[in-house]
Amino acid sequence: MMRNPVDVIILGQGIAGTTLAWRLLSAGCSVMVLDRGDRMTASKIAAGLMTPITGKRFAISWDWEDFYSEASQFYREVESKTGTHFFDELSMLRLFQTAEERQTFEGKLSRLTGLVSSTHPDFKTFQHAAAEGGFEMIGGRLHVEEYLKASRKMFQSMDSYIECSIDVQAEIEIQPNKIVIPKLNLTGKQFVSCQGFQSTMLPYFDSVKFNPAKGEILDIKTRNSNIDRVVHRGIWMSPRGKQLRIGATYDWSDLSTNVTENGRHWLTCRLNKLLPSEYEIVQHQAAIRPTMKDFHPVLGAHPKLNNVRIFNGLGSKGALMAPRLAQMLTNQLLHQTPLPLNLSVERWFQEES
Ligand SMILES: Cc1cc2nc3c(=O)[nH]c(=O)nc-3n(C[C@H](O)[C@H](O)[C@H](O)COP(=O)(O)OP(=O)(O)OC[C@H]3O[C@@H](n4cnc5c(N)ncnc54)[C@H](O)[C@@H]3O)c2cc1C
Repeated sequence: MMRNPVDVIILGQGIAGTTLAWRLLSAGCSVMVLDRGDRMTASKIAAGLMTPITGKRFAISWDWEDFYSEASQFYREVESKTGTHFFDELSMLRLFQTAEERQTFEGKLSRLTGLVSSTHPDFKTFQHAAAEGGFEMIGGRLHVEEYLKASRKMFQSMDSYIECSIDVQAEIEIQPNKIVIPKLNLTGKQFVSCQGFQSTMLPYFDSVKFNPAKGEILDIKTRNSNIDRVVHRGIWMSPRGKQLRIGATYDWSDLSTNVTENGRHWLTCRLNKLLPSEYEIVQHQAAIRPTMKDFHPVLGAHPKLNNVRIFNGLGSKGALMAPRLAQMLTNQLLHQTPLPLNLSVERWFQEES
């Protein structure tokens, strides 16, 4: 049976593909989302944190205000469309590890207005880890698995989702005015690859330079039931129901999703300094972040195949960046609105020529 042709075929239902599907549906397009349902993906294990001030130098996350305001509005809208809850605005605690860190922060404080909600927060359970002090900042958290699950359910109910694995090179026919996937009896006007780390194997975009980074996380249980905040101190700790998610490592050499003793050791060393009570590790997982060589996301049409697009490179900020970028890509796809060169896939082809 031939399926009805769709406007856009989206390959991958991680944060990128899901968010793009919502943006295109809102713009009136029909979509078909394809995903093979891998158990371990970057989106499935991400903590979904949206953190305005990051790293030891207390850098403001790139274009924070624009990304965050679009993200919070977008997730609220999808919550209301799906009748589920998966997004929270919350304050996060950042504890200094050294006196030097505290001095760096004090030197930058005047530039962090609006992001720091308290310079003298109540450290509560974390008093012992706050010898050098800390601060509280605004932020958000997407419960990524719930977001993906609720979205998938909605796409399924609209006949806009198929669970399947696609070999892009062998199973997709790219014709001048249509894309055909014969094994699914599916035709679309446009194709967008949202395959995360798997896009490194995409034939059409082999000049795009990925620099994927493996990340490991732990889910733990502790008897201390007072931990209700996201805390950063060398690692992050994020409450999830009765458990805490702890992360994350960065490794650019091993791109398997196997968990490692080194990863566990790195996380527990830092966790032991942060958590006063005993804990039990209930889960240890790893996945690969789709990071680019120049650390910028990558979106847009192939320069020669204008019905083939990519949406990728969300790195460690998928939850924050996907809604705004998906809107930009939607505008490009529907109205040919140009993309800034630092985000556009064209930058990789320019370097090639
Ligand atoms: C440990 C860790 C912690 C993180 N924490 C955060 C955080 O706190 N906040 C934050 O914003 N971000 C975080 N991230 C980053 C975030 O997870 C990524 O930016 C985001 O998940 C990337 O989403 P994606 O959709 O591009 O890729 P993916 O999540 O990899 O999704 C790609 C999808 O495509 C499917 N697919 C690929 N190829 C095929 C094919 N050929 N056929 C069918 N299906 C296919 C895969 O099965 C998958 O479902 C974290 C990442 C890691 C690893």
